[in-house]
Formats: sequence, structure tokens, C-alpha cells
Amino acid sequence: MSETFALQETRCPKCSTTNVTANLYCKCCSNILEPRTDYWLQAQDFQTIADKDALGLVKSTGVLPHLLNQFLGKPRARKQLEIISREGRSLNRFGNVNVLMRECAYTLCLERLPAAHVITGAGPPNAFTFGDDDAPIIVIDGRLVE
Ligand SMILES: [Zn+2]
Repeated sequence: MSETFALQETRCPKCSTTNVTANLYCKCCSNILEPRTDYWLQAQDFQTIADKDALGLVKSTGVLPHLLNQFLGKPRARKQLEIISREGRSLNRFGNVNVLMRECAYTLCLERLPAAHVITGAGPPNAFTFGDDDAPIIVIDGRLVE
């Protein structure tokens, strides 16, 4: 005798798309489906005291954050996005690792699931993040995924 299990569905609180609850995050907007906390981790939660002091000093200058973002942050992000679009593969292709990432994001109380890409790197295997709280991106060397 075989049993069939109905997949429970949840409507995304942000965009109203119907999703499979077990996926934890919306397939359309990447927002969490069923919040497990009232507190969401932000990038600033990972800053050390020295990072916060340095950032506070930069912000106190007024214009320096804008200049750094324009001349360092945006060009660097643009270059990384070019590499991803040319060489990257979505983590969605890597079933078990993709599920693990969703579970980690949920455990870490991330309100939005980061976009995750796998690239073939040169040199030692590496992984890094960039973007911001509104569009977080994770890049993982394929050798680490394997
Ligand atoms: Zn959604």
C-alpha cells in the first residue's frame, strides 16, 4: 500500500505567490514564508567593534561613504556580477547543497534568501558574499560544493 503526501502550501506574505511550505522561502521574491522570529539578522550584526568604529568614522565625514560606494563598491560589484553571469551556475542546480543553504538561512533568521551562484575558481577554493541586505549574493567555488 502506498501513501501519498500532500505538500502543504503557504501564500507568501510579501508577494502572495503560493509556495510549498517546506521550501521555507518564496520562489518568486525569496522572502521568508513563515517567520520564526521578530528579529532579522542584518549585515551590521556581523561587524566587529573595530568595523563599527571604522564605519562610524567614515560616515561622520558625510560624503566619503557615497564616494567609496561610487568608486569602489559599485565597480567591484559590477565586476563580480559580470563574472557570475559569464561563468556562474545557480545553486538551484545543486539540490542537497541548495536545501542546506535554505535551512541555514532560515536558522540564521535571514528574512531574504540570498541568491547563490557556483563558479569555477582558480587557486585555493573560496567563497564570498557581496551585495546588501536588499540583494544579498553568495558565490561559492564549485570544488567546495562538490
Ligand atoms: Zn514572495
